[in-house]
Amino acid sequence: MKINVTRSSMPSFEEYCEEIKDIWESRWLTNHGAKLQALEEKLKEYLGVKNVVMFTNGHLALEAAISYFNFPRGSEIITTPFTFVSTTNSIIRCGMIPVFCDINDKDYTIDVTKIEALITDKTVAIMPVHVYGNICDVEAIERIAKKHHLKVIYDAAHAFGVKYKNRGIASYGDISMFSFHATKVFHTIEGGCLCFNDDSMKLPLEQQKDFGIVDAEHCDYAGGNAKMNEFQASMGLCNLRHVDEYISSRKKAVEQYQKRLSGIKGIKLLEPQEDVLSNYAYLPVVFDDYKKNRDEIKDELAKHDIGARKYFYPITNEYSYSKGKYKGDTPIAESISKKVLTLPLYSDLSIENINLICDIIL
Ligand SMILES: *Cc1c(COP(=O)(O)O)cnc(C)c1O
Repeated sequence: MKINVTRSSMPSFEEYCEEIKDIWESRWLTNHGAKLQALEEKLKEYLGVKNVVMFTNGHLALEAAISYFNFPRGSEIITTPFTFVSTTNSIIRCGMIPVFCDINDKDYTIDVTKIEALITDKTVAIMPVHVYGNICDVEAIERIAKKHHLKVIYDAAHAFGVKYKNRGIASYGDISMFSFHATKVFHTIEGGCLCFNDDSMKLPLEQQKDFGIVDAEHCDYAGGNAKMNEFQASMGLCNLRHVDEYISSRKKAVEQYQKRLSGIKGIKLLEPQEDVLSNYAYLPVVFDDYKKNRDEIKDELAKHDIGARKYFYPITNEYSYSKGKYKGDTPIAESISKKVLTLPLYSDLSIENINLICDIIL
């Protein structure tokens, strides 16, 4: 049987059916329904944030977050290219210009010592990315943002449930986006949310996903549609009941990989970050001067029907639409992207299969 790089966590068929039963009585399928409201309340508590606004996917949530601030067209947002295309695309699609900052080679998040040199009179925000369940240096970013009057919009798609110093990671910055895509630690099939502390942002962000409509006779701007429906929210309610089990199974899997692969020359694993409660979202391995290179290992695994992913490769300033178009040198991001491979990791991945994967690599 093929081992994919990921496999969606799911509640039992019966549990989901039970959850969606009321929808046949209410006939309320979308538009801020009961399931969505229930999930929103539970997420506030789980994530330790004051406000949550739900979206049909993480990408549109990110676009809504940028749009909310009404930055002048052509403003610059400092971000990293070591991410999924969504981050960079959201900036460009909102009429902003991405300025690329390099990552650090310890945890692959934005190198905070390189941010200030990229700030110009056009800079309006920083969009850092928490990658693989590792978090950015949120304190340094906060200091820089305060000093230069910049907004901080986190792409926290990989960081569901992560805590720093016992605080939910989304309580840092002006706003954070979580993705609830089927491949993420917690999912609603497709879905996402924005989290923020400032209560005054709630209503305008609700309007952002609902055409800009204020009430039946008022619409303040030409907004789009990014509402989450009740079937998505129901999947979320089920998955949230089990997410702690999912995370602890992932932790066991990661520990097995570490047991087998750590201390091997040429293999670099993620190091646990201080004061961080991780969600074990991904298992990236950097092959640097190992007996085989990254691509050879990926091919060898593929021969055994094991899927691994070059994630993130290419970096987002190397795609045909972006290459050479935007400012910022990112040699470390480029180098890591050529050596990194994420290995299969999901909550019901067996120890035997992890051993098989490690045997092949070793
Ligand atoms: C998954 C992901 C997104 C996009 O989220 P969707 O819910 O798939 O739209 C954005 N950024 C990163 C880093 C992601 O991994």
